[in-house]
Amino acid sequence: MDRRKFIRKSSLITGGIFASSPLFPFIKSSSKTKSDFSGKVIIVGAGSAGLYAGFLLKSKGIDYEILEASDSIGGRLQKLDGFADFPLDLGAQWLHGKKSILGDLIKRSKTKITKDKSDTVYWYKNKIVNSLPLNFADYVNDLDILPDISYQKIGKRNDFSEDYKYIIEALAGDYGADASELSVKWTAKEEEDWSSGNSDFKFKETFFDLINIHFAEKVIDKVKFDTVVNKIDYQKEKIILKDNKNTEYLADKVIITVPITILQAGDIEFTPTFQKSKIRAFNKIGMGPGMKVFLKFKKEFYHENIIGGTVCAAYANEKIGKVGKDNVLMAFIMGEQAEHLSSLKNDEAVTLALVRELDEMYDGKASRYLIDSHVQDWTRSPFIKGAYSFSKVGIGNSRKTAAAPINDKIYFAGEAMNLSGHHQTVHGALESGARAVSHILKK
Ligand SMILES: Cc1cc2nc3c(=O)[nH]c(=O)nc-3n(C[C@H](O)[C@H](O)[C@H](O)COP(=O)(O)OP(=O)(O)OC[C@H]3O[C@@H](n4cnc5c(N)ncnc54)[C@H](O)[C@@H]3O)c2cc1C
Repeated sequence: MDRRKFIRKSSLITGGIFASSPLFPFIKSSSKTKSDFSGKVIIVGAGSAGLYAGFLLKSKGIDYEILEASDSIGGRLQKLDGFADFPLDLGAQWLHGKKSILGDLIKRSKTKITKDKSDTVYWYKNKIVNSLPLNFADYVNDLDILPDISYQKIGKRNDFSEDYKYIIEALAGDYGADASELSVKWTAKEEEDWSSGNSDFKFKETFFDLINIHFAEKVIDKVKFDTVVNKIDYQKEKIILKDNKNTEYLADKVIITVPITILQAGDIEFTPTFQKSKIRAFNKIGMGPGMKVFLKFKKEFYHENIIGGTVCAAYANEKIGKVGKDNVLMAFIMGEQAEHLSSLKNDEAVTLALVRELDEMYDGKASRYLIDSHVQDWTRSPFIKGAYSFSKVGIGNSRKTAAAPINDKIYFAGEAMNLSGHHQTVHGALESGARAVSHILKK
């Protein structure tokens, strides 16, 4: 599945920015020379952004510690072993383009990646079809003026009939959004900034293993688990952090990498409180519900990608790019559909809803061949609370305001704080971690 092919204006893609960018001086350098900064950095969150920031600080000989609320590293990168005869990604699974920090790391380590060339069919007017009469994404691409209205609204305004509702939902779901919230204008603007390349890649290992090998295992000794940071006081010279057990930690600089939902919920109390403009900016960034459900079948009766389901707008064959024989179809559920499934009583009810839909598409084969299922509901995960950030109608420059450091003490990283159009991605999270470290070392 080429996640980003929908509305990208390919003429605007100019290649990787990293080789020449002053923000990423570490990437090509194996130098261990120390910076002038000699204080202690505390990183809040051990997802990709936090782990990578730690790795960069370590390479510069800086004292750092990573405080992580859950009992594992990885954040939105987690894996599921034992369900199938190949490992599954509970969160991120595609490398979106190779021209990035991550692409460079992969290239240097010679990790094998496979281009995802899978085919797509559509569930349209209660039938599986190979193509659609109209292409909504092309329609949006060809607009001269991109209004700051939602995908849903633009569809309605321009006579994309009800039959397109879930096709449009699938497109918005790719962006982790509900079509009623995703901005046509700002999503296109951010797509223009995208510079990592157009193809999607998979690896036979999981994404979790990949970051583990490349940098996470090198900093894991500095991660303190089950440590929910809930207070940060940055009034005095030393910053004081407090966790759920009331333990205090002192730092000279803090890098916050928690998902934007955690900042929106006010789960961390800052003293002094942030200016209203900062809080407004946090709230203008979208991050909605998201879920992945893995369905294991005796037979592979389904297509590689199925778009447009009313229960789940996007299904993908998990076997692509993996080594194994088991047949696993993944339901990728975002926005309102994820909210609905999340509200069902239990995982069996979620599986049943999906199997019923697939039965309709494939003549009862889903229930005939179902062996097992696994539900990963990211919305219910207490330290994530959703899928990934997207550009809500009205977002404007909010990411920039949200990501601005405070008093040269508090720095913001994490995918939602990426300002190069690479939010929502693992490599975007890494870039944001690198930016925070770069800012600290320049002080
Ligand atoms: C279903 C799904 C599919 C995806 N698919 C892809 C894909 O194919 N390709 C891709 O590139 N990206 C994908 N993504 C996005 C990608 O996973 C994220 O962009 C990236 O992993 C985010 O990393 P992060 O470090 O910013 O945040 P996170 O990974 O969320 O890390 C934040 C960490 O902060 C911790 N935390 C939260 N609150 C506190 C607190 N109070 N105190 C201490 N710690 C705290 C959390 O436990 C977590 O470990 C997907 C995401 C999801 C959910």
